Amino acid sequence: MKIIKRDGSEENFDRQKIKNAIRKANEDTAGKPELSERQIDYISLVIEDHCNEVGRAFSVEEIQELVETHIILQGAPETAKRYIRYRFTRNLARTANTTDNQILSLIECNNEEVKQENSNKNPTVNSVQRDYMAGEVSKDLTRRILLPEEIVKAHEEGIIHFHDADYFAQHMHNCDLVNLEDMLQNGTVISGTMIEKPHSFSTACNIATQIIAQVASNQYGGQSISLTHLAPFVQVSRDKIRRRLSAEMAEIGVQLTDEQLCSMVEKRVREEVERGVQTIQYQVVTLLTTNGQAPFVTVFMYLNEAKNEQEKADLAIIIEEVLKQRITGTKNEVGVWVTPAFPKLIYVLEEDNIREDSKYWYLTELAAKCTAKRMVPDYISEKMMLELKVDQNGNGNCYTCMGCRSFLTPYVDAEGKPKYYGRFNQGVVTINLVDVACSACRGGKDEKKFWEILDERLDLCHRALRCRHERLKGTLSDAAPILWQHGALARLAKGQTIDELLYGGYSTISLGFAGLWECVYEVTGHKLTDAEGEKFGLAVMQKLNDACMGWRNAENIHYSLYGTPLESTTYKFAKCLQRRFGVIEGVTDKNYITNSYHIHVTEPIDAFAKLALESKFQALSPGGAISYVEVPNMQQNIPAVLEVMKFIYDHIMYAELNTKSDYCQVCGYEGEIEIVNEGGKLVWRCPNCGCEDQSKMNVARRTCGYIGSQYWNQGRTQEIKERVLHL
Ligand SMILES: [Zn+2]
Repeated sequence: MKIIKRDGSEENFDRQKIKNAIRKANEDTAGKPELSERQIDYISLVIEDHCNEVGRAFSVEEIQELVETHIILQGAPETAKRYIRYRFTRNLARTANTTDNQILSLIECNNEEVKQENSNKNPTVNSVQRDYMAGEVSKDLTRRILLPEEIVKAHEEGIIHFHDADYFAQHMHNCDLVNLEDMLQNGTVISGTMIEKPHSFSTACNIATQIIAQVASNQYGGQSISLTHLAPFVQVSRDKIRRRLSAEMAEIGVQLTDEQLCSMVEKRVREEVERGVQTIQYQVVTLLTTNGQAPFVTVFMYLNEAKNEQEKADLAIIIEEVLKQRITGTKNEVGVWVTPAFPKLIYVLEEDNIREDSKYWYLTELAAKCTAKRMVPDYISEKMMLELKVDQNGNGNCYTCMGCRSFLTPYVDAEGKPKYYGRFNQGVVTINLVDVACSACRGGKDEKKFWEILDERLDLCHRALRCRHERLKGTLSDAAPILWQHGALARLAKGQTIDELLYGGYSTISLGFAGLWECVYEVTGHKLTDAEGEKFGLAVMQKLNDACMGWRNAENIHYSLYGTPLESTTYKFAKCLQRRFGVIEGVTDKNYITNSYHIHVTEPIDAFAKLALESKFQALSPGGAISYVEVPNMQQNIPAVLEVMKFIYDHIMYAELNTKSDYCQVCGYEGEIEIVNEGGKLVWRCPNCGCEDQSKMNVARRTCGYIGSQYWNQGRTQEIKERVLHL
């Protein structure tokens, strides 16, 4: 069994150490010691058993909490007091110097917490380490200087989560919908170099990847681009190819019929589209941004976004190529085709592609095959979205979300036209709903108290969100020219602040929420899937929405409710809950809490019932949310995938299917790599050869909207292990 030390490194559980510490507190007395040697031995054994039972690595703090509890249970209050005092004194000494050990241990690759923090960053790589070092410094400044103490405390106690403190020291925001159309059509500037409107599709793809790289280095969240913005360049290439080909044929004196010429031109157009799409795929996965990772980019595929039928037909060619190449995959270090994590793909289900007799049904079939093999694309239902995203003119809107699932609010510009691209999200603060519930129900179930505490916590979140907003206010456009001056988000002048973009709905700011499932269960004793649980859950969501709307109306800032994709924070929240409230069955008894409004991963429910129920909650999560269904290997059952997609079209705005296609480099096994409990720690193991070396297995799992492939912390790993299938 392993213990995670304060600096993040690991060591073996040692019962003797616990005994020594208790003995010291016990013996340091003027009178007779309270505990016998046998009692001390007993306490250490109970703790060892407990840790073994829970089946994950404990932190030093958690062990100390347990020791305190058990000293008291043995009827030794004075000893407990002394033990706590020793701990406190040692803690004081530690706070004087918070970052040194963190940084040193991460450089030596001993920092388990950092190692498992982001499943898309490899912490042994130099460039990633540099990013993490900057992150540690930013977190330290944030904690000690930039944030009010009450927010730091609430964050540390897991009452709220103040996201991205590792980037808070700088004036950076979260995520973007890149205005690729403006940049390609009207030109842009990259690193001081003018980039004009491209003269071919493949050049447009090249420029797009340069833009993606630049944008990724200037914010910390995801970015989305639309293939529609590349589609006009297919015609540009077609005209060019036709001109060239005609000239070449004339030169050698060959007479082609119009039909022959057309067919030759189309063949070359296809080749060019293939090259362009390949450029984007390979550039995106091989780029390393200043954040030490591949850009978190999402590619949007929406036929109806095309301006005319010709553009739509060309867009269909691009979409087809993107899907085909994703099905193939990318080659890993040993030349095996694997599932790339990026770009994330979103495919819009619409009248033109949703039925067997729809014109573009073949694309939907291809998307289904792609999902079965590569977990992407995710699906947006145009029909549902038009109903949910109504702008101030009363029109429905369909547009892409950010890769993290953040949805902007509908917005129309000064001319009254809907605007999606060029907009962004300021940042996120998440409320831990489980903590609200447990705080309210300490003395038994108490719904009234729940609403009171929820009000207080929402005020706290609001103050924290204000800090985020204030941090961006006054930022000069020069901080990120590609974003603010050269079209990705705006075309502000040099020296101008971005302030005008922070108000009136041009950007949003997100109140995240987590653990609705556990919250409902703690307060009502019902599951979210029961009628009563559902009713209470919806009331909680409505309350959160009302809070956002109140702040929005008062400040002209678009607060929006967001189903946070918790990665390592799910583990942190769970640990904090256990520390504050002990183990409550069905509420705090896991290493994770349930994301957003999701139905608990262990709850048996079929895909259709899950999507139908969750759609009611998704409608109340306008700042973003995704529902998923967990499925086995579906590659032999494409009709079933298509059935789910049709159901999504009619019932829910945004959903995805979680499939499995892992690979073991040692034995070549393709399928699902398993999670096993080994000596109290969860490890990944190849079911074929027993390999447990994470660096020799390619595992891809969706954890928070993104596909992760660098493994996860213990809390998330337990959650992945416990997922039940929905099909
Ligand atoms: Zn193997």
